[in-house]
Amino acid sequence: MRWGNMRDSGNVEDREAAGPAGGLGGGLKLGGVGLIAVLAISWFLGLNPLDVLISLQGGDSPSAPTERAAPPPTTPGTRDETKEFIARVLGDTEDTWSAILKKMEREYHPPKLVLFRGAVDSACGLASSAMGPFYCASDERVYLDRSFFDDLSKRFGAPGEFARAYVIAHEVGHHVQNQLGITQKVAQQRGRTSEARSNALSVLVELQADCLAGVWGHFAKERNLLDPGDVEAGLAAAAAIGDDRLQQQSRGRVVPESFTHGSSAQRVRWFRTGLDSGEVSQCNTFETARP
Ligand SMILES: [Zn+2]
Repeated sequence: MRWGNMRDSGNVEDREAAGPAGGLGGGLKLGGVGLIAVLAISWFLGLNPLDVLISLQGGDSPSAPTERAAPPPTTPGTRDETKEFIARVLGDTEDTWSAILKKMEREYHPPKLVLFRGAVDSACGLASSAMGPFYCASDERVYLDRSFFDDLSKRFGAPGEFARAYVIAHEVGHHVQNQLGITQKVAQQRGRTSEARSNALSVLVELQADCLAGVWGHFAKERNLLDPGDVEAGLAAAAAIGDDRLQQQSRGRVVPESFTHGSSAQRVRWFRTGLDSGEVSQCNTFETARP
């Protein structure tokens, strides 16, 4: 990926130095029960569900947040390449979405991206990095613990820069949904329906975010910012974090009704749809799902 040619965003908020509790005083640890409570609260309030990219997976795993290794300390003056990468990919999504929304006669207000370690306080509640990156619609921020990038390559077998960029673009996709009013509409619907239907709606939201990530990828490709193999790396990442594959890994079986993000095949399909078309109108997962 030629991310060195992308524009640096000024919207990265660095809370890594605040420590594992993200500035909450340092003493707060978030265990499995805390995680579930956070999820339940956001669920009932009908806020944007914390975007649980890897669901509760990891909530009770040995790599729980409190035991996570801190990122290597950055000495002043040395280049923090990961942070730079994140800022540039974010900057590129800003340029792409500003241009697309302008064509739709709308103005794009970019999200902030909060870098944190371990756990973080957001307007959607307290969240742990074990839940994966997420977007909070209430404060219009993307939350990312850079250790997820290591999980992506080591635990989920999806290495490569474009796989990482896909994760950022997916979360930004949720912000685009928020800007287009889709998040609010879905939250209202989810508030008055069965759990199974609510999960199904969540899947459609997630697949749409995958498709919107693909739309960004389409324009990155068009502007010659991708290298051969990048698209494949992104598709592999989409497949790696499908609910079916994650459930298979963690429980040894697959329960489709409990999916909140979609199967690997669905995620790949929608990411590809965005990549190929570059059209927001092609990302109507809700319409396609109708019988
Ligand atoms: Zn998501």
